Amino acid sequence: MKIAFFGGTFDPVHRGHLEVARAAAKRFDLSLVYFSPADIPPHKQKRKLASFEHRFAMVALATAGDKRFIPSLLDAYTGGPNYSLETVRRLKNTLGKSDRLYFLIGMDAFEEIGTWYKPVELLHECEFIVVSRPSYSLDDAARALPKALRPPEPVLKKLSKQQVGTIELPGTAIHRLDDVWESVSSTQIRAAARKPAKQLSRLVPAPVAEYIEKQHLYLDAGGKWKAGRAAQGKMLSFERSISRSRKNE
Ligand code: ATP
Ligand code: MG
Repeated sequence: MKIAFFGGTFDPVHRGHLEVARAAAKRFDLSLVYFSPADIPPHKQKRKLASFEHRFAMVALATAGDKRFIPSLLDAYTGGPNYSLETVRRLKNTLGKSDRLYFLIGMDAFEEIGTWYKPVELLHECEFIVVSRPSYSLDDAARALPKALRPPEPVLKKLSKQQVGTIELPGTAIHRLDDVWESVSSTQIRAAARKPAKQLSRLVPAPVAEYIEKQHLYLDAGGKWKAGRAAQGKMLSFERSISRSRKNE
């Protein structure tokens, strides 16, 4: 069975993530894609994130319609940053001998891979599927590799003429998946969180848009709303649910 690990902050998960997973599943004949929100993403510790529980709930709602998409708890609380190397090793321990694991990742994240925890070891654990905008060519992915794995300049030059295909490396391979990049980001959704769920659902699946509205998420991220107002919103929803349950008693 072919399986992909798709890690991220998913704050929140959006249509771009789903589109990528669908395209990868089609091209690489994947039976399962594990969507794995990180409790503590090593690279996103500056900004305050929505809680892991909220991000996981949204991933669960977004993946509900597709049997291949698994909301994964692999990167739930570990007490420290969630390093992909450790997660992938944990996931591999659960797989059978005939299973093949891929690491699904966007080019913007792959560009930083040299700064990750033990990147050479991670690249040797499984093959990578790198999703990028059409303007990228294969050498962009190759140039992002840690020095120990980076092909020499003449090879990089050849790759720069190739838009699609695979970079074969000792102990791993990087496959490029092109033409699936949707111009949507979690940043954009956080900034638009004040909009009605109906409008938000152009960027995220409708149940996720509803969830953002119900839980008053990201209200302090977009500018107009002050943090206090967001907190007030949370209290009101809490109070509403208490009064509802009292009515039902
Ligand atoms: P943010 O705006 O907060 O950086 P994001 O939209 O980039 O969020 P992440 O959770 O950081 O979402 O991304 C998880 C993975 O999905 C990363 O590998 C990232 O490169 C990839 N990705 C994000 N948005 C897209 C998109 N529109 N198309 C393809 N891949 C994407
Ligand atoms: Mg990002």
